[in-house]
Formats: sequence, C-alpha cells, structure tokens
Amino acid sequence: MPKALVVLSGGQDSTTCLYWALERFGGAEQVQALSFDYGQRHRIELECAREIAQQAGVAQVCLPINTFNAIGGNALTDDGVAVASELQANQLPNTFVPGRNLIFLTFAAAFAYTRGIRELVTGVAQTDYSGYPDCRENTLKALELALRLGMDARVNLHTPLMFLSKAETVHLAQRLGALPALAYSHTCYNGVQPPCGECPACRLRAQGFAEAGIADPLLERFAQTR
Ligand code: ZN
Repeated sequence: MPKALVVLSGGQDSTTCLYWALERFGGAEQVQALSFDYGQRHRIELECAREIAQQAGVAQVCLPINTFNAIGGNALTDDGVAVASELQANQLPNTFVPGRNLIFLTFAAAFAYTRGIRELVTGVAQTDYSGYPDCRENTLKALELALRLGMDARVNLHTPLMFLSKAETVHLAQRLGALPALAYSHTCYNGVQPPCGECPACRLRAQGFAEAGIADPLLERFAQTR
C-alpha cells in the first residue's frame, strides 16, 4: 500500500513534486499519482501525466470530474474564452478556475482515505505570478484542517514548492533527478507541442529555467527531433 498520493497534472510543478515524493516517501512503491480529467481543453496534459507516471514507475489513476465546463467562464475549460496575454492590475488571470485546487484536493483526500493513504502532495506555489488564491499557504492550511475534521482522519497536505521561486523549483528538480521527466511535462496554455513560447505560462517557465541557468529539457527534446 503506498504512503503518499501526488496530484499529477502533467505540468512542471506537479512532476517535480512526484520526484520529491519518491525521495521523501521511499520510492515508487510508496507513491501513487492521481490526475483529473476536469474537461481541460488541452488533453495533452493528461497524456503527459500518464507518460511521466510511467517513467517514474508509479501507479497512476485519472478521475473524471467534468463539472467545470458547465460552470464556464475561464480559459482552461471554456472554448469561448481565450487566454489573456496581459494581466490587468489586481485582477486574477482568466486561467483561474474557481475552486479547482480545493476540489482536486478534496477528491484526492477521499481517494486517499479509502486506500489508507495519509500523505497528499500538491505542487501549488504561493510565489506563482498568477496569485491564484487556492494556491496560497493559508488556503492550504485551512483545507488541511477541513479535511482532517471532515473525514476524521490524519491527512497531511505537503506543498514542497509553496515558497520556492520558479528558478528554485528548477534547481530542486535537478537535485531530485526530475529533469528527464520534465522533458515530457506540459506547461503551455495554448496546448501545443513544441510549446508556443509566447503565452504567460511558457514565458514564466522559460524565465525560471533561464534564472536557474539550466536548459529546459522539454525544449531540448524538440530541438533534437527537429
Ligand atoms: Zn505557450
């Protein structure tokens, strides 16, 4: 029975967290990955998550939760909303899916509960430029308490990237041996591979690797196959 459950989106941060969990909890036998098919427009994320879990030798389950489409109004699940390229001051970007992490982690906790898993790992970071409120430390602490009370279980929410800059996350990935897996991760808000390089997510990722002084293995993979 694994000890830890990692919420794996197929992105850079959750991939790094998967390798953090492998180190922290004693290898692939002790770790399980959980992904969500939440109706994201870019199905490529799910393929990336599957590939990354497979490479790490970790069992992975994908849960379908497609209610966000019915709610609408954000650029990640609503075909009618384009990703805004520039942020308005004091405004959340339209890639914010309200409540997404609360819902992911609540389902993750329910999944973990039925399997006797106590350790939940998520790649949220309060230092993220977007300022998503459901990625902040205080939200995650409150949610951890709510999950413990609501399920009468000792659930621990681990957020190893919470206070790391993007460059520090890249250095962590390097130390953990996660760089080869990052070659298969997905970040681009436009859902294309090779990544567009222009959207806010691509620019943030590029900035992190540049500041860390490390080449992005994802870009290197496409440079090699060109
Ligand atoms: Zn992009």
